[in-house]
Amino acid sequence: GLSEKLQETFKRLRGKGKLTEDDVNEAMREVRMALLEADVNFKVVKDFVAKVKERAIGSEVLESLSPGQQVIKIVNEEMVALMGGVSSKINISSKPPTVILLAGLQGAGKTTHGAKLANMLKKQGKHPLLVACDIYRPAAIKQLQVLGEQIKVPVFSLGTEKPVKIAQESIRQANSQGQDVVIIDTAGRLHINEELMGELRDIKSAVKPQEILLVVDAMTGQDAVNVAESFHRELGIDGVILTKLDGDTRGGAALSVKAVTGCPIKFAGIGEKMDAIEPFYPERMASRILGMGDVLTLIEKAQSAFDEKKAKEMEQKLRKQEFTLDDFLDQMQQLKKMGPLSSILEMIPGMGKQLKDVQINEKDMAHVEAIIHSMTSEERRKPVIIKESRKKRIAKGSGTSIQEVGRLLKQFEQMQKMMKQLTNNPGMGMLGGGKG
Ligand code: GDP
Ligand code: MG
Repeated sequence: GLSEKLQETFKRLRGKGKLTEDDVNEAMREVRMALLEADVNFKVVKDFVAKVKERAIGSEVLESLSPGQQVIKIVNEEMVALMGGVSSKINISSKPPTVILLAGLQGAGKTTHGAKLANMLKKQGKHPLLVACDIYRPAAIKQLQVLGEQIKVPVFSLGTEKPVKIAQESIRQANSQGQDVVIIDTAGRLHINEELMGELRDIKSAVKPQEILLVVDAMTGQDAVNVAESFHRELGIDGVILTKLDGDTRGGAALSVKAVTGCPIKFAGIGEKMDAIEPFYPERMASRILGMGDVLTLIEKAQSAFDEKKAKEMEQKLRKQEFTLDDFLDQMQQLKKMGPLSSILEMIPGMGKQLKDVQINEKDMAHVEAIIHSMTSEERRKPVIIKESRKKRIAKGSGTSIQEVGRLLKQFEQMQKMMKQLTNNPGMGMLGGGKG
């Protein structure tokens, strides 16, 4: 996948003390190939590589202390810029209701994301109304109604009336019932055609949406970008919702949409559940594509605190699944030196959520030590054998509680999982897929 390829390139760069122009050229050739394979638009790749090269070959890099890292930093910065730099918000109308029109091909995720958006806005204190304008399949109306019920958001539908009429009536209803955001779900086709565009244009001129959001499936790579280009030309869009980023995605769409259409990606869909939507953050996306979180900061922090030899040993143990509670204790003491654990974890993409409840502070550390010291060496090696009666004994021996012992065992398990992911797959593989 893209992440793996880029990481390999960067690993080689990092290993070098001083970079020559040839090194940079070679690395950029690899970056170019990786991006093209990830289905990033050809022209976007060309411009991107040229920009990075221009900056990287400048004296600031070649003469700096860690040229390899400088190049990675530039690639990262340019990627963020390519995706628009900052996270874009939706336009809220000063005079309610704010009207959001969702457009896109069939199966892109319009209906799902209409509901996800409504759910998100509701949590922000808004009162959304979902509108069923996909009248061509009875199942489409039902689908929206089911989702609406699930998230407790009203759904407006007039059966198979003309979509334009449904949209207009829905605004009237929103006005009379105090709903401040109207989200219009529309029909899609398998391919872009005049009928689809005509209908969308009619709805647009009838209800004058503040926001026309195009829903595109990230899995379709460069096709997604072509779709975005056509919709923008034919209808005019304000932003994109890039869906199915949780899947085996190559990254091409995310990197090209803004550059090709000029329209920002505003939201990312990352699953089928109603909360699987997030504002699109170019920085986060670049980190994911580069597969290394805020890798520079992390490397710097880790290097200053970790004894490298020790880290190697630990890695070996992890690979051989020999990581014990004794090592856990050791590891926690090491991590403590690196600063608050949560700030380290935030730098690793996808990691924050998994370890939200792992908190390490001084007082806990003392308890952790006491608990582990109250275990037999067999228990430290094989914590799975610690059931209720052993927990009781350990709690008593360490002057803690059964709950605390349980909590530590759970943390250990999570730590084991995290360390495994870090050593096997530093990029979390979100965009790594098997395709590249
Ligand atoms: P529409 O035809 O554009 O309205 O598309 P739907 O909203 O009906 O979605 C089509 C399918 O894609 C459904 O099975 C959704 O559950 C699924 N889907 C939508 N968004 C996502 C996403 O972000 N991730 C994943 N994994 N599936 C999604
Ligand atoms: Mg639909």
